[in-house]
Amino acid sequence: MLTNGIWGKEKAEAERLATKLKDSGLNILGISVDAFHLQFIPLAYPRNAAEAAVKAGIEKVTWNVAVLESLGGANHYDKLTDHILEELGPVGIDAHIHKVSAAGRALQTIPEYFEKTSLDGPCEGETPMENTVKNPQSITIEPCGDVDICWHLSIGNAKATPLSRIISSYDWRKNSTTKVLAEEGPIGLLKRYKSFAGSFKKSAYLNKCHLCTEVRRAIETEKTNLTRSFIAARAT
Ligand code: SF4
Repeated sequence: MLTNGIWGKEKAEAERLATKLKDSGLNILGISVDAFHLQFIPLAYPRNAAEAAVKAGIEKVTWNVAVLESLGGANHYDKLTDHILEELGPVGIDAHIHKVSAAGRALQTIPEYFEKTSLDGPCEGETPMENTVKNPQSITIEPCGDVDICWHLSIGNAKATPLSRIISSYDWRKNSTTKVLAEEGPIGLLKRYKSFAGSFKKSAYLNKCHLCTEVRRAIETEKTNLTRSFIAARAT
C-alpha cells in the first residue's frame, strides 16, 4: 500500500491503525515523502506513520520518494527532498526512489521538466505504471468506494462489490472506455465525443496521459450536465 502518511497525525491513533493494517495482512507499506507531498503534510505525520508501521511489525516499510532528476539533483525540489530525507534519517528505513511521472498535477505545475511525446496510439506503457489498462498493477480506492486503475478510471465500487471480485473479474474488453483506451488511446476517446472534440488543441498536451485525463474530465462534465438537464426537465 502507498500512503501519504496523513494518518500519522496522532501517534496513538497511528499505532492503532498500523496494527489494524498488519492484522489485515498488509506486508508492504510505502510512505510518500518528498518536496511535493510535504508542501501539504507536516513532516511529523509520515514520521509517526512509519514508526507506527515498523512497531506494528509490517514486514517492509519504506519511504516512497519522487524526484525530478535524482537525489542530490541541482533543482529546487530535489534539494528540498534531500533535506526531508536527512530529517527522517533517524527512523532508519530505506527509501524507494522514482522519477516524478509526467501526469496529473505535475503537468500543470512543473511542465518545464517534461518532454513532449506523441499523443497517438493506445495506452500501453504510459506512466506511472506499465500497461495500466490491459494489466493494471495497482489500484486507488476513492473515499466513495470507487476502485480506480488510473485517474478516475473506475472498474467498480468496493462498497457495492467485494474488492477481490472487482479485481478478479476485471476485463478491459468489457468496459467501453478501457476498450477504446487499450485499442486506440485517448485520441480514440476524443473521436467519439464530437460535441467537444473541436475544443481540444493537440499542441496544448504534453503526452497521452495529459490528453487522456482532460478528455475524460470533459466526458464526466458532459454526463453530469446531461443528467442535470434530464432532472430539470422532469421536474418541470
Ligand atoms: S491517463 Fe489514460 S493514457 Fe495515461 S495511463 Fe491512464 S488510461 Fe492510460
